[in-house]
Amino acid sequence: MNSTNITLSCKDFGHFDVVVVGGGCTGVFAAVRAARKGLKVAIVEKSNCFGGVATNGLVNIWHSLYDIYNKEQIIGGLTQELAETLINRGYGNLEGTVSRYISFDPNALKMILDELVINSGIKVFFHTFYHSLVTREGGIEAVIVANKDGLGRIGADFFIDATGDGDLCRDCGLESYVDSAIQPPSPCCFLDKNIRSDLGELIRLHGAEFGLEDDWGWGGTIPGLEDINFRADFHIFGKMCNHADQLTEAEIEGRKKIYALGELLKKYDDPGHAIVALSSHIGIRETVHYKTRFQATELELLTGKSYEDTVMRGTYRVDIHHQNDNGITFKYLSGKQVTYYGKGNQTVTRNWMEDMGITCTPAPYYQVPFRILVQEKIRNLIPVGRMLNADRGSFGALRVMVNLNQLGEAAGTAAYCCLDEGKPIQDICGKRVQKELQ
Ligand SMILES: Cc1cc2nc3c(=O)[nH]c(=O)nc-3n(C[C@H](O)[C@H](O)[C@H](O)COP(=O)(O)OP(=O)(O)OC[C@H]3O[C@@H](n4cnc5c(N)ncnc54)[C@H](O)[C@@H]3O)c2cc1C
Repeated sequence: MNSTNITLSCKDFGHFDVVVVGGGCTGVFAAVRAARKGLKVAIVEKSNCFGGVATNGLVNIWHSLYDIYNKEQIIGGLTQELAETLINRGYGNLEGTVSRYISFDPNALKMILDELVINSGIKVFFHTFYHSLVTREGGIEAVIVANKDGLGRIGADFFIDATGDGDLCRDCGLESYVDSAIQPPSPCCFLDKNIRSDLGELIRLHGAEFGLEDDWGWGGTIPGLEDINFRADFHIFGKMCNHADQLTEAEIEGRKKIYALGELLKKYDDPGHAIVALSSHIGIRETVHYKTRFQATELELLTGKSYEDTVMRGTYRVDIHHQNDNGITFKYLSGKQVTYYGKGNQTVTRNWMEDMGITCTPAPYYQVPFRILVQEKIRNLIPVGRMLNADRGSFGALRVMVNLNQLGEAAGTAAYCCLDEGKPIQDICGKRVQKELQ
């Protein structure tokens, strides 16, 4: 069947002002912002809930809303609103001493996101997979989706691609690029019982018996779930997760590693250990990026360059999981740089500011301008999420949720500005978007 036949055989799933494809936090925040501006909004999500990596991926940390000196609050909006809801209802904790981050229960976040979306009057399509699109004269007319009712057509005046991989951008033929060392994915789980011994030591001693290498990883607590820990202990190397076969292989390999971890812990730490939840989707850090009017770069980011149309502020460090040597490098706004190999068996510390001969006072936070959301080809499309236009270092910092949440809100607001002014995204003034956000 060719694409014309597919379009003809589609059911009509409605027409909206804005359709957001992808219901991770980025997509939800975009949809809610547009809906709160009075627009008729639909959101399409292939799984059974909102939140993406934060819920289906079990990743339960939102980083600091403050500058590096913990003085000025630099992030507000829906991130603050949801963080407060999580904390007030007992499903979120403020943690850390120097930089205060929020840990939360991903299952509670699922329900809180349902409430947020429904209360905003947004039409929800769960279990609905974006399939293809219908374009006309430099714009998108509709997306074709597949769900239990068959193939359907959802029309809209504006579209936001929040699929992470940029599925709509791909089908529009937007210019893309892949970093030569993409950050590898990690399978995640909830583990019953705290680990009594040093996990790195256990893996170095017994990992080979279970096919496990000493890899860098991390874990954390979950508010309200005593004795249960989040774990992201391994990477799956050499897989590009925006390709179906490699994504499938990564999922299978990831689950195998988690199972092996459980077996190792039962045998050598405590027989009472159990894997109590597996992420329902492998944690994908990076695939492809799409070109937009502005590319974020590490040096501008870390030196806190400011822009007149800033729509995002953040402090989360540059965080690069190495592609193939079990290491991770962090670069902080303060100048500090640390690389860890394996679970703490080797650490290399430097100062990137000194290395580069930079002597200025560290920037309190970094900024990103509206132009990062503006692609040049399609008049009614915004790409937003981890497909963003960023070099390796800046991507390492920008990819976290408190940052993408803000860009999601900017995307929803920009969609409103386009429809309000009757202009293509390329003609929208970033300062107006910034003002609307404030
Ligand atoms: C292991 C791991 C640990 C991390 N740790 C942290 C951390 O501690 N804190 C932090 O802030 N960030 C962390 N990150 C980074 C952060 O979670 C992600 O970069 C961010 O969530 C990406 O957001 P997104 O909205 O672009 O993608 P996602 O959250 O993946 O959302 C994309 C959504 O689109 C849906 N979708 C995709 N394709 C389609 C389609 N064709 N049709 C319909 N729906 C579709 C998906 O189901 C998903 O819900 C981590 C990432 C990983 C992988």
